[in-house]
Amino acid sequence: MRKAVTSLSILILTGALIGQHAMAERQPNQADQSETTVVMLGTGTPVLNQERAGQSILIVVDKEMYLFDAGPGFVKNFDALSGKDFMPEDIYFSNDSVYGAMNKVFLTHLDSDHVMGMPELMLRPWIMGRSEPIKVVGPKGTEEMTTHVLEAYQADIGHRLHGTQPANSEGFKVEVTEISGTQVVHQDDRVTITAFKVPHGSWADGMAFGYRVEAPDKTVVISGDTRHDQALYEYFEGADILIHEVMSEQGVSRLSQDWQDYMYHAHTSAQQLAKIGRHVEPELLVLNHPLLFGQSDQQLSTEMASYYEGEFVLANDLDIYE
Ligand SMILES: [Zn+2]
Repeated sequence: MRKAVTSLSILILTGALIGQHAMAERQPNQADQSETTVVMLGTGTPVLNQERAGQSILIVVDKEMYLFDAGPGFVKNFDALSGKDFMPEDIYFSNDSVYGAMNKVFLTHLDSDHVMGMPELMLRPWIMGRSEPIKVVGPKGTEEMTTHVLEAYQADIGHRLHGTQPANSEGFKVEVTEISGTQVVHQDDRVTITAFKVPHGSWADGMAFGYRVEAPDKTVVISGDTRHDQALYEYFEGADILIHEVMSEQGVSRLSQDWQDYMYHAHTSAQQLAKIGRHVEPELLVLNHPLLFGQSDQQLSTEMASYYEGEFVLANDLDIYE
């Protein structure tokens, strides 16, 4: 996959071009016809941060959208993508638009910072035009969660369905696939998505996942929330873009010992991530879900740079990688 890409540019929607990477010469093949774009719709953690919506990553391949996680408040960030070349059109009250394209989401795990946006993802695009059920892939418990969401919002759903407002009867519905092991979870003519198990705190085996997305022009790997484990390297191998969670060692070192123990059981430090980066050598390493504990973004970047010489960027909401 990597040899099929000529360049990988990092665009910050609200800022300047911050990097460009020369890659191997592209050979004429299917990759020439496909374009994959990654948008960080939300980069937050459970720690409140005004600048970061809840965790959600959008991968767009030839205007087909694949969402990973649905943290609190990320849906509004679609508004900033309206009119972008790589996005489906923004047509009010039409399934043949960005609203209908919000039709599948892959959940890494059920911690609330990754799923509190599910009610909004289930209902808001429906109001705006989605007329088919949304597909949801996630661990055991996903079906129960989405069923309860629909029950919680039944007054709203009933009012829209049976009142004077035009509404379709399918777009709020959900088709859930629960997974418990490493497996291919989606395949179409462009994209293969593999879920792989990750160890995250005290979640049972098979309850937390990362995702490997293989598109014609690039491979993107999303770690999900995970502690460092060399057994995961095989799923990271060959990633053009590796989006990995991170925590500041300086920040964690200030916590009480029981919290430090928990953090290293659940998450990956900058030094550990540098080790991963050296092994995998992605074209771009994206530091995501930053647990700072009093450190600034700049301090975390400095910490990372002290361990890692490769190309990396600390993700912000609405960063675009293509
Ligand atoms: Zn998290």
